[in-house]
Amino acid sequence: MSQPIPQYIAGESVYSMVANIHLHSLDTTPQQTNQRLFNIEHVRLHPVLPAHVRDLAESASINPFKLLLDGTGYSLYAFTLAKPTERLKLMNSMLGHEGGSVLRVSRQAASKLALGVMLKLCPSCLIDDEATHGGSVWHTSHQLYGVTVCPVHGQRLSSISAGEGKAGRKYLLPNNHMLDDGAVHTDSEKHLSRFITQLHDFLNKQSPLFSVRRCYQQALTDRGYITKNGNLRFKALKADLTAYWDELFTSPNNLLPTELSNFNFVPRLVHSDANLHFIKHVLLMAFLAKTPEILFNMQVRHQPLSEPVTINKVDQVLETNKMLVLLRSGLSMRKVSVLSGRSVGFIKQLALKNGIKVGSRAQLVSEEVERAIWRKAFMGQHRDVIAKEHRISVSAVEQIIQSHKGLSAWRKHLRAKTKLRETRNRLIDHINSHPSDTRNEIKAACSAYMWLFKHDKAWLYQQLPPAQKKVFRSRKDWGKLDNDLSRRIMLEIDTAKSMSEIDRYFGGHNWLPRQQAKLPKAYLAAKEKIERCLGS
Ligand SMILES: [Zn+2]
Repeated sequence: MSQPIPQYIAGESVYSMVANIHLHSLDTTPQQTNQRLFNIEHVRLHPVLPAHVRDLAESASINPFKLLLDGTGYSLYAFTLAKPTERLKLMNSMLGHEGGSVLRVSRQAASKLALGVMLKLCPSCLIDDEATHGGSVWHTSHQLYGVTVCPVHGQRLSSISAGEGKAGRKYLLPNNHMLDDGAVHTDSEKHLSRFITQLHDFLNKQSPLFSVRRCYQQALTDRGYITKNGNLRFKALKADLTAYWDELFTSPNNLLPTELSNFNFVPRLVHSDANLHFIKHVLLMAFLAKTPEILFNMQVRHQPLSEPVTINKVDQVLETNKMLVLLRSGLSMRKVSVLSGRSVGFIKQLALKNGIKVGSRAQLVSEEVERAIWRKAFMGQHRDVIAKEHRISVSAVEQIIQSHKGLSAWRKHLRAKTKLRETRNRLIDHINSHPSDTRNEIKAACSAYMWLFKHDKAWLYQQLPPAQKKVFRSRKDWGKLDNDLSRRIMLEIDTAKSMSEIDRYFGGHNWLPRQQAKLPKAYLAAKEKIERCLGS
């Protein structure tokens, strides 16, 4: 049953990990490996959107969230989902067992783009991996949709189809026979590939401070694509985007759907929070900025187009007294900094000079520390523990959690999961240590019962002993019970101090103290044992 699990190699995809486990095992078919790891025979692991992540992480003793980030394209897809609940759904289906729902939730199916499912490999990585790890792996970064050039070696990737009935059901590792002619790549492909892998890395470490829509609006305003009235100059933008990505779409090796080349999706990216495939975001992002960091960390100065009117009235560059009004109204320094385009340090000086009390989080917590805090918060660590570790106040930690979209909801979800697991365990422990308890007895003795009744009824009923029918008592065969019980008392009890003690030994049903008339033989046998105890 238990076979050694090869160590997880950083950046390896989930599919690759299972392929490695399979090929290093005694299993002769993929079905055996599936059964062993996932408890089902038929599994199709998508190269970037697989399910079963939790089971796999547990058998390899690694953190499931880390595997979700490093071994799949989760963060890229979650990023394109506007609602925290949708991101949570995606996370749960990838951690869980339903491969089909992953694609549905990630909106792959709904995006209507013809996205082929491929497994991709780099000839130089193949050699490097052989030298460093003594084997080959599929790299998550290569599998991301739109990546055609290795981010490390700058070489064009080879690919094999992983669609229905192909590698998706078999477990293969990269090898020399999978390499194709090694077509040359264009600079556009290289830029796009690098940007996608950088974005994946970036999103694995943190969530952006501002919504990406605001970053687009800022970058487009800076470049003159947005008018003073907030209108998008789409005709000009489209012409420039077309020229910029021309090489990509006209290349004979192009793998992207040509419908993307009309860029008609761009206005929706800029004006709405619609859920669009990440490749659409990247085509705009990589046009606007050299790296994701530059795009996300750009100082968002101008008013977002959809902010309430009251804030729209604030001039693009606020005068000192207006900043003071905002500070006095309780707006954070960071917010005022964003609205005014001034640094947080400048705002703080201004506040101090004018006797306005402000928090000092921005100066205490560096970006690096903030990332570390985000990571810990994401893993569900308690605020107090995080605060102690970084020697900052609990409220500073709370502020950071609040400033990352969706993180607070995610932590709430984690806490609920933990509570559920603990309560379920308490019930199971109780049932195991009181195997003869009826439903009512469990309900009276174990507080987990009522909580589960409210929050997890279906599961609770699966665990409970069958409900007792009302007619049961009248049909109870007291004569048989009397015979059995008296025999067992004689055989199993040596001496006892009281009826209750003997009753407890047989499960605490209160038969002996209360049902003497119905259990005369057992009562006599018990009495004898008690007298023997008192007499000795
Ligand atoms: Zn490579």
